[in-house]
Amino acid sequence: MKKPALTQISELVATGLVPAEHARELAPVAEAFRIRISGEMHSAITAKDDPIARQFLPDTAELTIRPEELHDPIGDVTYSPTPGLTHRYPDRVILAVTRTCEVYCRFCFRREAVGEEGALPEADLEAALNYIAATPAIWEVILTGGDPLVLSPRRLTALMQRLSAIPHVEIIRFHTRVPVVSPARITPEMIAALRARPTTYLVLHTNHAQEITPAAQTALKNLAEAGIPLLSQTVLLKGINDNAATLETLFRTLLRNRVTPYYLHHCDLARGTSHFRTTIAAGQTIMAQLRGRLSGIGLPTYVLDIPGGFGKVPIGPGYVEVADDGYQITDWQGGRHAYHDPDHS
Ligand code: SF4
Repeated sequence: MKKPALTQISELVATGLVPAEHARELAPVAEAFRIRISGEMHSAITAKDDPIARQFLPDTAELTIRPEELHDPIGDVTYSPTPGLTHRYPDRVILAVTRTCEVYCRFCFRREAVGEEGALPEADLEAALNYIAATPAIWEVILTGGDPLVLSPRRLTALMQRLSAIPHVEIIRFHTRVPVVSPARITPEMIAALRARPTTYLVLHTNHAQEITPAAQTALKNLAEAGIPLLSQTVLLKGINDNAATLETLFRTLLRNRVTPYYLHHCDLARGTSHFRTTIAAGQTIMAQLRGRLSGIGLPTYVLDIPGGFGKVPIGPGYVEVADDGYQITDWQGGRHAYHDPDHS
């Protein structure tokens, strides 16, 4: 039987996930950053320091705010023409349709924004849709939040119909954790809502194979069989998935479930998240190790969202160096090879 969702420190204490003597010191953490562990994830926790628990249990380390950490680490607000909308690149926008999630991840880069109840107010949604309709360069709309799949299928269908009426919007992409953290929400009605638009992509946020429960596998199967292309994004998290073996297991599990690994994110400079952050050098080493262990379809791009909203860039590792008479190329085992580009003058 599935366990209930947890949202209060008193519930975490009652379930034994937090010792009673820590409740008082965790109160300011809960005040600053909301708690929610879905029933599915609560049921999948096997120990209070396992890779799932560590993503969702509050920690006093979150009260350590480093000077480099930011309220809005990737500049969502800086590039926002109307509330809920971010327009950073010419051809795409991010539309945050709700601030609510099924889980609140302790490392979330939008942790200052998520947690308030409810969908984007209708007036703000109207303004965002008007902006999209009036901007012909926008080819792709990325629906995010919060988590867009906390909306009801009826609401999502209505939104998809409104987006479908804008002729230059050809792709709708959902960024969501729901198929893994609350797979029961992936009902036939939800799948029909996602398919209301012919070209829908779904990008699943998942960080550890332990999250991919049997129910999550069924949800992914149903989405894949409905013809919705599935990609994934993973955050590199210290002590949770920051080694090649753990990520290899995750990426193989995703491929087995017809999800293509897309991004491995370097953990953003969100406030109170330094205990989750590794170094870029460590991330590059892991990616180099993975290249020898996994085929190309299992290798995501390791990316950094440049603080301030300057966009996402691949951060390596690098395999090509300019040399005096061409290039030095590094192979997956670290071997170095001279390469002369015949047509390079
Ligand atoms: S589900 Fe996504 S938006 Fe919500 S807290 Fe987790 S990372 Fe943030």
